[in-house]
Amino acid sequence: MSRPRIIVTNDDGIFSEGIERLAASLATVGDVFTVAPDQERSAAGHSLTLHHPLRAKLIGPQRWSVDGTPTDCVNWGVLHLLKDERPKLLFSGINLGLNLGDDVTYSGTVSAAFEGTLIGIPSVAVSQEIETGFTFDAAADIAARLARLLLVHPLKPGTLINVNVPAGSPRGVRVVRQGRRRYGEAVIEKTDPRGRPYYWIGATPPEGMLEQGTDLSAVDENYISVTPLHLDLTHYDSLSLVEAIAARLDEAPAFETDVSKPR
Ligand code: MN
Repeated sequence: MSRPRIIVTNDDGIFSEGIERLAASLATVGDVFTVAPDQERSAAGHSLTLHHPLRAKLIGPQRWSVDGTPTDCVNWGVLHLLKDERPKLLFSGINLGLNLGDDVTYSGTVSAAFEGTLIGIPSVAVSQEIETGFTFDAAADIAARLARLLLVHPLKPGTLINVNVPAGSPRGVRVVRQGRRRYGEAVIEKTDPRGRPYYWIGATPPEGMLEQGTDLSAVDENYISVTPLHLDLTHYDSLSLVEAIAARLDEAPAFETDVSKPR
C-alpha cells in the first residue's frame, strides 16, 4: 500500500524553520508535499488571490513555493499538484506564534486549515508560542502523533483541529474550546517626517481573567491546547432573536431605500 499523502503549508513562508520541522516530522507518517507562500503571509487570513496569476516554483524535492496566500497554496496544492491522488491530511504550521481565541480568523496558518476543510481534506493547524529558548520539538512531535491517529480516526466532515503549543516543556494535552481574546484595542497615531499622520493597529497587553476551559487558559497553564473548529459561524442561540427582529423589518423606518420594496 502506498504511503498516505500529506500536504503541508503555513503562512510564515516556505523558508520558515517551522514548516521544515513539520514536514520532516510528518515524513515519518506519510508522503509529504510542501506548498507554501514564497514570503511571509502572516495575518493574511483566509484571503484568496483572484486578480493576478499565480506562479509556483519547485524549490526542492516535493517542495513548492507559490507567490500567493496560504489559501492559494492549499488550492494549488490539492486541486492542481495532487489532483490525481488527493492528500489524506493537511497540516499547516508550525506557526511562529500562537493562534488562540478570536485570533484564528486573522491567521493565515489556521485559514489554510479552514481551506483544507472546505475542500474536503482533514486539516490541522499547529502553532508555537515564542519565548526565549523555545523549540519546535513538542509541536513537531504532536503533529506526527495526531497525523497517525487521524488516518485511523477521521474527524467529522467540515471540522478541523487547531493545536497550540506552549514554549518550554508542555505538561500535557488539553482539549478545549476557543477562547476570547483579552487585548485592549488601540490604533496608535504617529507623525511621519512630512508631518502627515500614520497609524499602527496595536494591541495593549492582555487584561482581565482567563476563562477556564479555553485554548487561552490551557496554553497559559503550559498545556498543549487542541480545539476542534468548524466554519459554520452561525450563532444558533440567536436565530429566534434575529427572527423576531427580522419579522419587524417592515415596521422599521428605512432611510434612502425601503426594504419592503424589491429593488
Ligand atoms: Mn505566521
